[in-house]
Amino acid sequence: MSGSPECIFCEIVSGQSEASIVFRDELVTVFMDIHPVNPGHLLVVPNQHASGIDDVPEAVCARMFIIGRRMARALRRSGLRCEGVNLYLADGEAAGQDVFHSHLHVIPRFRGNPGSFHLKVDFSAAASREDLDVQAEAIRSSLDSAGAGSRV
Ligand code: 5GP
Ligand code: ZN
Repeated sequence: MSGSPECIFCEIVSGQSEASIVFRDELVTVFMDIHPVNPGHLLVVPNQHASGIDDVPEAVCARMFIIGRRMARALRRSGLRCEGVNLYLADGEAAGQDVFHSHLHVIPRFRGNPGSFHLKVDFSAAASREDLDVQAEAIRSSLDSAGAGSRV
């Protein structure tokens, strides 16, 4: 397990800092968020330090989401209040990432709870097909030859 100096999540993964661990395997560790949006708020982190999601090997990304899904199922059965779940990953400062060891939030939600993860979508105005096609082409042409491609 390779850590990064002064990374709080590396310290948690290596056991140097305290955390309430829910699950761990050879690729990922899951622990309780210290500032939960709701009780039961979990973080799924790669065991190996990677600041952004593009630095996380694909197999580990897959594991993060597989375990995130499993955690969501466990939350629904746990007796904690959980009527829905947000899987949320902030990648980059502009996206709201505060801790630069990539992580997937698994957040229990229930009707009427304070705070909102609803995207501020303006349903009154759909984007033009022309704009969407231009944007789609820009993204398509940036995919590498592997297709869905980024680093494996
Ligand atoms: P971000 O804003 O980067 O998507 O999320 C970072 C999350 O890490 C926040 O929800 C924050 O509460 C959590 N966090 C920050 N420091 C610690 C810590 O020392 N221990 C735990 N368990 N969670 C932390
Ligand atoms: Zn780290």
